[in-house]
Order: sequence, then C-alpha cells, then structure tokens
Amino acid sequence: MGQQQSRFDRDDELVVLKFGGTSVEDAAAIRRLVGIVKSRMDAQPVVVLSALARVTDQLLEAGKAAADGHLGAALASVRSIYVRHELLAEELLGPDHGLAGDFRREFGALESLLGELERARQLSPQAQDRLLGFGECLSSKLAQAVLVQAGVNAAHVDARECIVTDAQHGQASPLWDVTSERVRDVVAPLLESGQVPVLGGFIAATESGVPTTLGRGGSDFSAAILGATLGAAKVEIWTDVDGIMTTDPKLCAEARVIGKMSFDEAVELAHFGAKVLHPATLAPAMRENIPVYVLNSRKPEGKGTEIVAKARTGNVVSAITAKRKVAAVEIEAKQPLDSELLRNVYAAFGRHACPVDLMGTSLGRISLLVGSTAALPGIAADLESVANVRWENHKALVCLVGESIRRQPDVASRVFAAVSDMDVRMVCQGASDRTISFLVEEERVEESVQRLHGLFFAPPDHPDWGGISSAYCQAG
Ligand code: ADP
Ligand code: ASP
Ligand code: MG
Repeated sequence: MGQQQSRFDRDDELVVLKFGGTSVEDAAAIRRLVGIVKSRMDAQPVVVLSALARVTDQLLEAGKAAADGHLGAALASVRSIYVRHELLAEELLGPDHGLAGDFRREFGALESLLGELERARQLSPQAQDRLLGFGECLSSKLAQAVLVQAGVNAAHVDARECIVTDAQHGQASPLWDVTSERVRDVVAPLLESGQVPVLGGFIAATESGVPTTLGRGGSDFSAAILGATLGAAKVEIWTDVDGIMTTDPKLCAEARVIGKMSFDEAVELAHFGAKVLHPATLAPAMRENIPVYVLNSRKPEGKGTEIVAKARTGNVVSAITAKRKVAAVEIEAKQPLDSELLRNVYAAFGRHACPVDLMGTSLGRISLLVGSTAALPGIAADLESVANVRWENHKALVCLVGESIRRQPDVASRVFAAVSDMDVRMVCQGASDRTISFLVEEERVEESVQRLHGLFFAPPDHPDWGGISSAYCQAG
C-alpha cells in the first residue's frame, strides 16, 4: 500500500477532513463544516464524520434499555434522535429536504433492531455494532446533502462498503489489502470524477458485510485508514479544542496548545488516555508518513497541532494524560517458581478478550492494568488452579509523555515529590522511554494533573521553569 501505487494517478493533493461529534452537533456547526470543506477545495477533500454529539451514547443506552426489557424508554430515546435529525435537516435544507424518506427507513430499521434486542434480552457485541452505526449513517447523509446544497459536488459513500475489518466486534481492526481494494473501487472513481466523498467514520464491516465498529472514538481511525489507502497529503482532525494540548483542558484550565509534535509522542498520548485522538489513528499515518493536524472547527483560522515524523515540543515533558476507570490487577502464582504463569495469564486474558497493560512482573507475581473489570471474575476462575487474582477499582493512570523523559533522572523524582502526599503507585510500562506513569485514586486525578502541569508548564517567568528547557531536552 505504498503512497506511489495508491495515488490513483491524480496530480492534486488529497486531504482527509474528519469532523467529530461536536463539529456536527447543530446547524451552526454544520455550516462551519461546509465553510471548512469549501476552503479545502484547492486540494481534493474526503470528508469523514462522527455521529452528532451524544448520539452514540444515546444509542448505546437505548440498546441496553431494550435488552433489559424497557422497550418503551428505548424507543422514546431513539425518537428524540430522529426528531433532532429531522429538525436539523429542515433548518439546513428547508422543509422539503430529500432526506425524509431515508431518515424514516433508517429509524424504522433502528426500531426493529430495538425490538429484536428486547426479545433476545441481550445486547451482543455484534448487535451493538449494528446499533451504534446508525449515528454515523445519519450524520454522513445529512452532511452530504448540506454540502450539495452549498454547491459542493459531494457524494455519500457507505463506509461499510469500503472499510473491511476482522470480526472483533466493538474494536475491529482493518484488513488492509481488501480495504485498499474496496477504497480503490468505491472512493477513487468519485475522486477521479471530481466529487467529494463523504463517509461516516467509526463504522466498517467484515468481508461478508456484517457491520463492525472501530472502537469508541474510532472516526479518527477511519480518517487515517482512508488517508493511508488513498495516499493523502494530510489528515485533518477537526474537533472542539485548539489542538493537542499539554493536558486535557477539562482537567486543567492552564493547558496550552502544542504547535508541533512527533508521531511517537502523539501515539503515547493517545494510548495513555488523551481522548482527542483514537489510539489507533497514528499507526497508518506513520506508516505512510502522512502528517496529521488537530484543529478547532470553531476557530478554523487557528494553526492547531501538526503531528509529523520528527518534531520536538521543546520540553522534556510534552504533555500529561490521565486515563480514568482503570483497575489494578495483582496475580500471584500458587507455585512461586511457576514458569508458565505469564503464558497462562496471557492466554486467560486473551480468551476473555480483555485488553491489558503490563505493569510489571517479578518472581511468581504479575501486575496488570485493565480498563474494565467485567471479565475479571471469569479470568480469576480460569486461573484458579495456578494463581490468586485480586483487583482494585477506581484508579486513574496519570502519564507524563516526552521524548526520552525516562532518561532524565530528575523528572521522575520531581513528579513523585509533587504527589508524595497522595497514595500513588509507580508503573513500569513497556519498553518506551517516552513515558513516566503512576496510578492514583480516581478522585485525586484532577488535583495530581494540575499539580504536575503547574510544575512542568509554569509560565516562562515562573521560578519552576528552570531545568526543563529545550536546551536541556536537546542535550538529553
Ligand atoms: P471529537 O468528538 O471531535 O472526536 P473528542 O471528545 O473525542 O472530540 O476529543 C476532544 C476532547 O479530547 C477535548 O474536548 C478534550 O477534553 C479531550 N482531551 C483529552 N486530552 C487532551 C489533550 N491532551 N489535548 C486536547 N484535548 C484533549
Ligand atoms: N461516534 C463514535 C463515538 O462516539 C465515534 C467517534 O465519535 O469517533 O464513539
Ligand atoms: Mg473523538
């Protein structure tokens, strides 16, 4: 899938524009989106959209309610989604908009699915993918119609016909060869005829057409998949913040935008909980060396963050992330010299499809982190003959990211001094020397992030600024 073969013999540069939920949340946001797409018409835009803000959560709640037998509540909730889309279409396109039939069909299918869930009394991962996909189907159809009305030659593409994945429902991975082929067959002809393809993000399908999703927040990943398979010149992620910031601005008001950073650092940030990018997004961009920009759709004139192969933020600590709802798992072998422990533990977590982060191992002991405890009772039962499994909930993982951060010995000591009055536990994570992370009680996450932000991102005239300057960083 090298760039050369996938450029479809076009001369002009291609840019993938992805708009998140808040960037399509209402009529004003969709009008801004139109302005942004029009401003990119000198390149060849491909537009990827999330569902309208909050819709995916509402669909999920409706699915759970139906599976619990509360069909009435589930139907009421999807009707409110229907009304929201209908009103938005009327406001943007006028009362005779051509989407009414399409919307009615989609909502008819959604209501039947909720009925099925009520009868089955369960929401299987496969059914959940079918259910959640409605949000992106609707938003992409709406945006395509609004773009056409605004004079853009936009064509709707069902992403499930071109992004092909394995059958890991809820967190599917693309099958690259067949996806490239389908993108070539479905999207490339539109580009060649000068059209602007508009697709829902997040949604995909298996080779045989069973709907899948790429995991929550997965529209960013869809944009990168399309960027990589189409040989895009860049991918732009349009969202509700000014770019990637030194920390989540919802946790710390002092957070500030990072102008430029490396793929490697951005990967760590996304992996360690910076919701602004889905963790899988950067892998395809890195592989094809496609710069990724994170931009604020409310301030299209802003510069945002540029993510490229090589860049230095100028600080030893580039950003601080926090991942909430983490559980710390301790596994203790019943036989201290059990050489099979790690293999058995990985096999058990694999069987229960429970993703893990390894914290550390020592003789007869393994410490892990998991994002959900749902599978742990089953895993503990599987391992019962060889190990005791215990876990603690309500933790948050705080992580400092920076090129070579672990090679700066005083950074870790300053971090732990700053939170020494809190009950923290250091985490030895993987082989990367770009992160230092620790576990903290969930209710103290905001406070710990703010303290560390104050320490490492004090204004330049602040006494704490010394010692972490770019000169120090480059020397490291
Ligand atoms: P979208 O709907 O556009 O995909 P998301 O809600 O998924 O947007 O991601 C944007 C949010 O990510 C921001 O509103 C912000 O609260 C959060 N966020 C977390 N960490 C960071 C960070 N380091 N920089 C910027 N935003 C961050
Ligand atoms: N709408 C999906 C979600 O909320 C995907 C996305 O927004 O990227 O998870
Ligand atoms: Mg997102």
